[in-house]
Amino acid sequence: MSQPQRQEPKFSATEALFDRGGSKNPLDILRRVYGYPAFRGKQQQVVDHVVSGGDAVVLFPTGAGKSLCFQIPALCRDGVGIVVSPLIALMRDQVEALKQLGIRAAALNSSLSREEAGDVYRAMSNGTLDLLYVTPERILTDGFSQMIAKAKIALFAIDEAHCVSQWGHDFRPEYRDLGKLAELFPDVPRIALTATADPHTRDDIIERLALDNAAVFTTSFDRPNITYEIVERDQPRQQLLRFLDGHRGDSGIVYCLSRAKVEETAEWLNGQGIRALAYHAGMDRALRDANQDAFLKEEDLCLVATVAFGMGIDKPNVRYVAHLDLPGSVEAYYQETGRAGRDGLPSEVWMAYGMSDAIQRRRMIDEGTAGEEIKRVERAKLNALLAICETAGCRRQAILGHFGEAHAGGCGNCDTCLKPVETWDGTEAAIKALAAIYRTGERFGTGHVIDVLMGTVNEKTQRFGHVNMPVFGAGSDIPSRTWQSVFRQLLASGFISVDHTAFGALKLEPEARAVFKHERQVFFRKDRPEAGRRLKKAARMEKRASGLSGEAQPLFEALRAERTKIAKTLGVPPYVVFPDTTLIAFATERPTSRDALLGVSGVGQAKLERYGDAFLKVIKAFE
Ligand code: ADP
Ligand code: ZN
Repeated sequence: MSQPQRQEPKFSATEALFDRGGSKNPLDILRRVYGYPAFRGKQQQVVDHVVSGGDAVVLFPTGAGKSLCFQIPALCRDGVGIVVSPLIALMRDQVEALKQLGIRAAALNSSLSREEAGDVYRAMSNGTLDLLYVTPERILTDGFSQMIAKAKIALFAIDEAHCVSQWGHDFRPEYRDLGKLAELFPDVPRIALTATADPHTRDDIIERLALDNAAVFTTSFDRPNITYEIVERDQPRQQLLRFLDGHRGDSGIVYCLSRAKVEETAEWLNGQGIRALAYHAGMDRALRDANQDAFLKEEDLCLVATVAFGMGIDKPNVRYVAHLDLPGSVEAYYQETGRAGRDGLPSEVWMAYGMSDAIQRRRMIDEGTAGEEIKRVERAKLNALLAICETAGCRRQAILGHFGEAHAGGCGNCDTCLKPVETWDGTEAAIKALAAIYRTGERFGTGHVIDVLMGTVNEKTQRFGHVNMPVFGAGSDIPSRTWQSVFRQLLASGFISVDHTAFGALKLEPEARAVFKHERQVFFRKDRPEAGRRLKKAARMEKRASGLSGEAQPLFEALRAERTKIAKTLGVPPYVVFPDTTLIAFATERPTSRDALLGVSGVGQAKLERYGDAFLKVIKAFE
C-alpha cells in the first residue's frame, strides 16, 4: 500500500502547549487542541484516573467519545502513548486525524519502509512522539519490546478490546498475549476500550488483559439519535429502495448475508441511480481496500457489505444502516447498526426480515461444527433477536433490555413508538396452527402446514391424506399472509421450533402445551398493510434537518464543498478536516472572526491555523 505524502504540521499544538510552558491540564487540552468546550459523560473521570496512573476498562457505546479517553491522558503524561489497534487499513486515517489537530502521531505497521520505521523509532526515543499506533502482532515482538524499553511510555491503550474474547464475533488470537504487557511494564497504566457491553466479554477482557485492578467505567448503551425500524419482508428490493429514498445524498451501509447477494445488490442499486460499492472478504484485496477508502472519503456512497466490513470504521456521518438479512444476534445487530450516527446527528437503521431468515439462520447453527453447548447458546441468541423483531412494544426498550439495561419504553424514536402496532388475540389461531403441526406428525415445513390450514387441495395434501383431517381448511377464514406472520411469531416466542435434520419440519416445544390447554392467551402483532409501512416521510425529513434552517442550507453546502476541496488535496476523509457538526455550527452561527471560529465546537488551535481563513472566506461571501 502506498503512503500518502507526509505533511509535517507547520504548527504543532502540542509544542505550543508544552514546550512553550503551556499547561498539561486535561480540560485545557480538550479546549485548545480539540476545540471542544467540555467533557462528555464520564470522559473526565476516565481521563483523570488514567492521568494519575490507574488502569481502566472503558465500556461506552459507539460515538460516546472513547478516543479522547486515552488520547488526552497520553498528552498529559510524559512519554509516548502506545495504542493497540487491530486494523492496519484504518490506522492511516486515525493518525492523519491526529496530525490535523497538531498532535505528533504515527503508525507502525508492515506497510512502512525500513527507513520510515527508523524515523518513528527515532522520534520515540527523542521524546518527540505523542501517540503511536501498532498492531497486536507487532507489540510483543522482541524488536519492538527492546525499542520501547528505551523510550518513556505514557500509557498503553487497547482499542477494540472485545477482540480478546472468543465469545464475541471479532475474536483475534493475538489479543490474548496482550496480558503480558502487565508483567513487562508494571508501572505503565493500561486502558482497554470497547463498545461491546455484554458481561461475558467484559469478564474476558479483565481476565485476559490482566486488568483485575482496573477501574471499570460504563455508561448507558442507548443511542438516542438512532431511529430503529424493522419490517416484514415481502418485496425486499422495493422496500430497500423506499428506505433509501429518504437518504439521497447520504452515506450508509447495507448489510447482506452472502457475498453473492452483496454483489447483486450493489449492482442493482447502481442501476436504480444509487451510487453503491461492494465489500466482502472474497473480493480482491486491492479493490476491497479501494472501496472502503472511497466510502470513508466520499459523502454520498452506499456500501453494500457482509459483516466483514465495519469494525473500527470511525466515519462519523454514516446516516443509515440497512439489513437485508437477519444479523447473527442482538449483539451483532447492535454493533452493526451502531455504526450509524457516531456524530450524534439523527440517523436511521432499518431491517427487513422474514420467516425464511429465521429458518436459514437456524440451519446455519444446526449444521455448524460447533459443540452442542455452543449451539444451544447460538439458538438462544437467535431467539432473542427474533423476539425483538416481533415485539409490539418499544424496540429500544427491548434491545436495551437484552443488554440488561432498563428503559421505560415509549422512546418516540423507533417504528413501534412512532406508529404503534395493533395486536390481536390470536389464541384460537395459535391452537389451530399448533394442531395442524401436531396432526400432520411434526414432519412438515411452514408452507405445507399453511396449505393444510387453508384447505388447499394439491398433490401433497392429497398424497399424505391431509385433506381428510378435521384440521384441513380449519384456518381458511384467515389469509395465508397472516398465517405466515402467526408461524413467525410462534417461532419467535419459542412455542415451536424448526428441525433441520428433518428438512425444516416444524416441531412443538413444551411451551405449546399451555396454549393447547387454553391455559395461556397468545397475542400477535398485526402486520402493517404495505402503504403504511414506511414511517411518514415528513416526520423523518424533519428529524434529519438537524437544526439546519432552509436559510443556512446554501452556506452549509458551500462549506461542505470547501471541506471536500481541502480533504482531496490532503488525501484524507472530509471529516478529518471538520465533522458535519462543526460545519452546521458555522452555517448557523456564521462566525466572522478567528476568535469567533475558536468558539465553535471542533475548532482547536491547529485547525484554526490551517483552515480558519479558508472557511472564514466562505462564510463572509454569504454576508
Ligand atoms: P467512540 O470511539 O466512542 O465510538 P469517538 O471517540 O470516535 O467515539 O467520538 C465520536 C465523536 O464525538 C468524534 O467525532 C469525537 O470527536 C466527538 N467527541 C468526543 N468527545 C467529545 C466532546 N467532549 N465534545 C464534543 N465532541 C466530542
Ligand atoms: Zn420506542
